[in-house]
Parts: sequence; C-alpha cells; structure tokens
Amino acid sequence: MFRLFNVLKKPNRLDDFAANDNKGFTWYFTNTRGQILLLHRLGQIYVITFCLAVCWSSVSLGLPLIYDKSPWKLVYAQYLMKYICFCIVSNYILTVFHAGKSHLGAFSDGNLPTRNLDTSPNCSSNLDAISSTDSALHLCTSCDLKVPPRARHCAICQCCVLKKDHHCFFTGCCIGFYNQRYFMTFCLLGMVGGSWGIYNLGTYLSTHYGAFLSLQIVKYFLPVTFFMCLLGYTSVFEALLVMLFYLHFTSTLTSYYYFGWEMFIIYRGQTSYECMKGLKLYCDNFWMNMRSVFGPYWLIGFVLPVPILVNEGDGKSWILKQKSA
Ligand SMILES: [Zn+2]
Ligand SMILES: [Zn+2]
Repeated sequence: MFRLFNVLKKPNRLDDFAANDNKGFTWYFTNTRGQILLLHRLGQIYVITFCLAVCWSSVSLGLPLIYDKSPWKLVYAQYLMKYICFCIVSNYILTVFHAGKSHLGAFSDGNLPTRNLDTSPNCSSNLDAISSTDSALHLCTSCDLKVPPRARHCAICQCCVLKKDHHCFFTGCCIGFYNQRYFMTFCLLGMVGGSWGIYNLGTYLSTHYGAFLSLQIVKYFLPVTFFMCLLGYTSVFEALLVMLFYLHFTSTLTSYYYFGWEMFIIYRGQTSYECMKGLKLYCDNFWMNMRSVFGPYWLIGFVLPVPILVNEGDGKSWILKQKSA
C-alpha cells in the first residue's frame, strides 16, 4: 500500500516533524531529532553569517587598502564582491527551498514517470534505458513506497529523495535531483568569493596586524592570539579578524572539496552513494550529465541565481552506461 505524501506543500519533513511535536527549549538538547534540527539551524546561521562577514571584511577592510589609489577600481571591486556574496547566499537559499521537490512524495500520485530519452554515442540507446516502469521501481521499506532508480531513503529527512547525493548539514537538507545544481553553484562561487576574500582579509591583516613573512607570523597561532587579546596586546576586533581568517580558509577549502567531488561524480555519472559503492550503472557522458544537473543553459546558472532554468530529465528515468564489448 503506497502512502500518498503531499510534500510539495511540506518542503522540509524534518521541520514538519519538529512542528508536530509539542516541544520546549530543552527538546532541542535532549531529543536526538531535536539535536539534528539544532545542528541544521546552526549550520544555516553559520553559512549566512559567514557570507555576510566575508562580504563586509572585503568591502570595508581589504579592498579599500588594496585599491587605495584607484577609487574607480575600488568601486567596481566592491560591487563585484557584493554581487558574488549575493549569488552565494541566493544559491544557498535556492538549495534549501528546492530540496522538497526531490522528495519522493512529490510524484507519489500514482503517475509513473515516462520520458523519451536522448541517445549519445557513449551511452546506450533508448531501449537500454531504465525507464521507471513497475519493474524498475524498488521498494523502500521505510516509506512503504516504490521508488525509481537512484532514489534513496534519507533517515534524517524521513523520506526518499530523487537521485539522492548526500544529506548536507550546512544546508539542513538532502542534495538531490532538483537542488544539486544550486548546491554546486553555491560551492563554485564559495571557491571564488572565498579565495578572493582570503586575499583581501590577508592583505588587511598583514598590513595592520602582523606581516606574514616575518616573526610576527606567530601572532596568527590561535593560542597566541587568544593570550595576546587577554593581556591587552591585541584588540578583540583584531582577534576576531584572525578567527575570521581561519574560517575563510576552512570554508573555502570545503567549497573546493565539495565542488571538486561533485564534478568528479558527474564526470563518472554517479551519485556519492554509487561512487562509494563502486556502482557505475548510468550514462557517463560528461556533457549529458552536466545538462541533467544544470539544464541546457547551465552556464547562465553560474552567473545568475535564477530558478527558472530547469534540469534536463525527470530524475526518475536514467540512461544506462554502455556496456563494453
Ligand atoms: Zn524511503
Ligand atoms: Zn536528508
């Protein structure tokens, strides 16, 4: 017996679960689900706050120092940094808001998906495609629901997710078929904005706090920074900037890692789960997979955070990888 979920009206199952619980403040600390929800909220607050801090530190501190003799260049650079940070936050928000579209209930209305699949020299023909007919669906025992290939159950979201890649604690949702594109753009712009932010803040700190290529480098070791701040040799403001500098590094490296990883699995035609399990079942044509994730005009998505560009495919039917002779 299939359950009929109306997840389109309920984009976040974890929120629903939490909302239905009569809980107090302590619930977030004593209940496992409350702790997960709290972790999600902290991740979301961290990302938004950090993006704002990156934008502010570059626009107000680093760039005025770098372009102190070129007022026009300063204005351009400040607008560019603001735009990059705006796109990062927009793609982050779109990642969260589009997560619900990949939830299984979105198409658990009895309509089995059908679609004519393209062919490619590197991939099998339509005849070899896995179409989501009854035989291709597999049963999720947790949802008591038959789901298409590549859909997997998320114990945290408590539902099956179309082409589930992974559950992300920074966004508080699953990365699946409909929001992978926003997540990847978020990571890509995080790489660009983060790297530039490191340079800007590094320039400011190197000038006003301590030069990197000197003995003053010891001031950047956090225990030293902490004690200098405690003893009054360093202001709280400077100590916070050093911490922000560290966060710049870790967050930017995380963006590099996730974007590199996602590109790698797209190149191989896999999800994170399939890659971990060594499953190479689906089309490994890089451009077809890019279109599947980003849609036909994928380049626009990298510069404009617009949710009007649609993915190619339906997330339910997949082209099989061509078997080697
Ligand atoms: Zn499920
Ligand atoms: Zn999830």
